[in-house]
Amino acid sequence: MKNPFHIMIIPTLGCPGRCKYCWSSEEGSPIMTIETVKEIVAWLKTCGKDRVTFTFHGGEPLLAGADFYMQALPLLANGLSHLKPDFAMQTNLWRMTSEIAEVLAEYHIPLGSSIDGPEDITDSQRGEGYYEKCMKGYATAQAAGLQVRFICTFTNKSVKQKEDIFNFFKERGFVLKLHPALPSMKSENPKEWALEPAEYGELLVYLLDKALDNLGTVEVMNINDLCRCVFTRRGSVCTYVDCMGSTFAIGPDGSIYPCYRFVGMPEWVMANVRDRPTLEQLMASEPGLRMTAFSKYVDTACRDCSHIRYCRGGCPYNAIAPTGGALEGVDPHCPAYKRIFDEINNRLNDEMFAEPMEGMGFGMPVTKKKKAGIMDLMRASICR
Ligand code: SF4
Ligand code: SF4
Repeated sequence: MKNPFHIMIIPTLGCPGRCKYCWSSEEGSPIMTIETVKEIVAWLKTCGKDRVTFTFHGGEPLLAGADFYMQALPLLANGLSHLKPDFAMQTNLWRMTSEIAEVLAEYHIPLGSSIDGPEDITDSQRGEGYYEKCMKGYATAQAAGLQVRFICTFTNKSVKQKEDIFNFFKERGFVLKLHPALPSMKSENPKEWALEPAEYGELLVYLLDKALDNLGTVEVMNINDLCRCVFTRRGSVCTYVDCMGSTFAIGPDGSIYPCYRFVGMPEWVMANVRDRPTLEQLMASEPGLRMTAFSKYVDTACRDCSHIRYCRGGCPYNAIAPTGGALEGVDPHCPAYKRIFDEINNRLNDEMFAEPMEGMGFGMPVTKKKKAGIMDLMRASICR
């Protein structure tokens, strides 16, 4: 996490795509006005932080159009210059134009987009024509010099083609960042696409092996992050830290939520930017108290788990959004986290004993290594 104070701006929940497992778009959602952006600036002026990262998310944030970004970016960058804002955006790229790309490039905005592997797999999950439209936008973004990375959503269907998907990312030189399909709270059959925790765990172990076998050729971001968690004994992405109080999301109408995943759920509105709440007031709201209660619950529920320091019970949205805030368990992906954290820990321990680090051999003969290990991956990611 580059910057621990993170504000997600959701200019709209609307999206022209029809991804089959989507749970975060909403037809007919309004688009944020520039007046609301001015309110965001006024609200954050006195937030007491010294850095901020803004991520534009959706829905599909490019639906807001070029004019929105031409006005919003200078307002945020200049009005909050004391917070040294960084920007990022998550988009399907369909509505990328050279006009928008140029303004995003001016602010050095890295883009995250989404493809699920080869065209046929992507379109079977995200709708006919998705891949082509995304790649067209990718070309436009690249022409403007924008950096684009792709998130690959693995569903219970596409996981069966994991090898094809991995090879696709490798052959194109794309960094692979994966995301497990979540049960949709908007669907009559919420688990239709969802990746079961056990399958997710096995997928992570498979990708750990792939990342090590292909070290220097392809990068799997999640594997780097998970190894860094174990190595440093600290969470390195939001899922594995207490995100409450350091991450907030602002919906199209200026409502403030604990994270983009809650946007559009009225019971998770903490306040509105027009009310200029302090961060303490946000955390004292009902949704804020529910988030804090989750963190306290993890202290007890995960007390006996050796990974608690760098897992922290996983994502609170996954744990308490489906229960309306009731504390009935930690993140349901817990078995996946345990599986991969155990695997990384065991391998790291084996490596330490089998091959002491340079200068730490204590007189033992240092054997020649055959296969890349966790330490090699850590060294490679530090040097990158
Ligand atoms: S609720 Fe989940 S996705 Fe949102 S910031 Fe927290 S850990 Fe990340
Ligand atoms: S792996 Fe499971 S039990 Fe361990 S800290 Fe994470 S959520 Fe809790």
